Amino acid sequence: MANLSQVYLNGQYLPPDQARVSVFDRGFIFGDGVYEVIPAFGGRLFRLPHHLSRLDASLAAIRLRNPHTAQEWKTIFTRLLDGTENGKSDQSIYLQITRGVAPRDHAFPANIAPTVFVYAQPLKYSPPEQLAQGVAAITAADIRWQRCDIKAIALLANALLRQQAIEQGAVEAILVRDGVVTEGAASNIFVVKNGALVTPPKGPFILPGITRDLVVEIARAKGIACDELPVKIEMLSSADEVWLTSSTKEILPITRIDGQPVGDGKSGPVHARMFALYKEYKQAFIQGKAD
Ligand code: PLP
Repeated sequence: MANLSQVYLNGQYLPPDQARVSVFDRGFIFGDGVYEVIPAFGGRLFRLPHHLSRLDASLAAIRLRNPHTAQEWKTIFTRLLDGTENGKSDQSIYLQITRGVAPRDHAFPANIAPTVFVYAQPLKYSPPEQLAQGVAAITAADIRWQRCDIKAIALLANALLRQQAIEQGAVEAILVRDGVVTEGAASNIFVVKNGALVTPPKGPFILPGITRDLVVEIARAKGIACDELPVKIEMLSSADEVWLTSSTKEILPITRIDGQPVGDGKSGPVHARMFALYKEYKQAFIQGKAD
């Protein structure tokens, strides 16, 4: 945190050590809030309208009003990006909105102001060897609730699952509900078979990932077969390639699952093609030729 010069809290830009939130904030007491993570490449906010519309959906689902217009959000993000030492380097914006401060009671308090917290930090890319060789994952029972489509700050199950993966020498847990893959602890999942992509359909059991949607969009634009269909757990062991996607990890090959190699155990050609297309899209975006 030391290198953050300022954060945004409830209308103010402050050094992080001066930003204070009440111990009675419902985010702290109940995990009653939602968040977003938005990458900024070359100083430009990547897929901002998509992130803001997912934020709207998360807020509506927990019955909170969006405290800012799209323009106001953009102003806050831009000021935080400009305030960092490397304003034009790759950054990520973290934003969190909680229901606000009130005496502890499960029922919603009337007429309280939400707590709004935003900061920017340098984007930590996956190490190049992870991209080249792929990473290990484990499978684990999806012990989360039934509204995983809400980007809720209550991430206890996700944290337990990711930690389980780390302790088993893996980087991600692939979550399985009723024999079907939902997503990763903090990522979406793609399976490749005979050159075609399959990713689980959107619904209450997965977060509608912005990177997932972009991969689907690029695949369709480039004539790469891509289905949004249930992924049975057996499809992982018969897949040629498995990938995870997220705004910060981008598109990462998973080359071992539960200690077994995926396909030939190496990062595959379909990943190489998709990652090249993704980087091309990102470059066009940085140059203002894509949104
Ligand atoms: N699924 C979960 C549970 C996540 O936490 C994330 C991102 O952190 C994703 C999927 C990927 O979403 P995005 O591509 O929008 O980062």
